Amino acid sequence: MGPTFRRLPKRDGTLIQVPSMPWSSAPTPPDNFTAPCCGQTITSTQNSVIQGALTVWQWQYCDCMREALAVAEETRQQMEQNTIRRERWQGQQRALDALFPQWCQSAKVPHQTLDHFVANQEMRGLMARLRAWLDAVNQKEGFMLTGRVGNGKTHLVRGIAHEVRAQYRTVLYTSVPYLLEHLRGPTGADMEMVLKAMIQADVVVWDDLGAEKPTEWTLDRLYLLLDARYEAEKPVLVTSNGSPAQLEQRLGARIVSRLMEMGPVWEVPGVDYRVLLAQKRLVAG
Ligand SMILES: [Zn+2]
Repeated sequence: MGPTFRRLPKRDGTLIQVPSMPWSSAPTPPDNFTAPCCGQTITSTQNSVIQGALTVWQWQYCDCMREALAVAEETRQQMEQNTIRRERWQGQQRALDALFPQWCQSAKVPHQTLDHFVANQEMRGLMARLRAWLDAVNQKEGFMLTGRVGNGKTHLVRGIAHEVRAQYRTVLYTSVPYLLEHLRGPTGADMEMVLKAMIQADVVVWDDLGAEKPTEWTLDRLYLLLDARYEAEKPVLVTSNGSPAQLEQRLGARIVSRLMEMGPVWEVPGVDYRVLLAQKRLVAG
């Protein structure tokens, strides 16, 4: 009886037939056969397993089959690694989402992905920069998106957050007003816990920085959190309606100059994104 085959890819992607049962414990050897990939005659050799108690026949694979089997093994290991990564990510991400539930609330708007962003001509350059940022591995630098109210900054950072999560990297997403509220709330969020989360997350998103003028007390804490990210060399993505100069007036030079060290400022073109979206809907409808 001839072997049954399975189709496996070589490194260049071409599929070849590989006999799927390498072992046989029949008393006589399986029939030799001609490899469809290279025409080599595939024979089998007898292997004695467990001190001669069990005799098996093993295929003598050609080089192409060896290569395809190695690729299959690497793929299997890769998938196993991905499963481990995904499970580890899920655990850490759940803890972050529990501490900052805003993401879960905003996840009710799952259409806020980068692919769903309606980019006009002026925004193409910015979109390319954001994509490049996402493609870079282990970014130490974040960025700040500035520009007028309603130009889509929040949509953009949420889109980035979606993509980062899809890469099994953890995201701590919070609006800064919420964070400040959290820090000075009546029960007082455990600063240690927030600090730990700020250091641990792969990517931190601070949406709407400078929306309000914080007290000295909250400013100190905000700086402490930012500084923890800086020391950990991990990115913070910030959105703000104000320019760096306006932010400096509200938050002081200490926070703003630290932010400037942690990544570039990208201005989102001054269109009203909500108007653009409505126009797009009109055209599409
Ligand atoms: Zn071959």
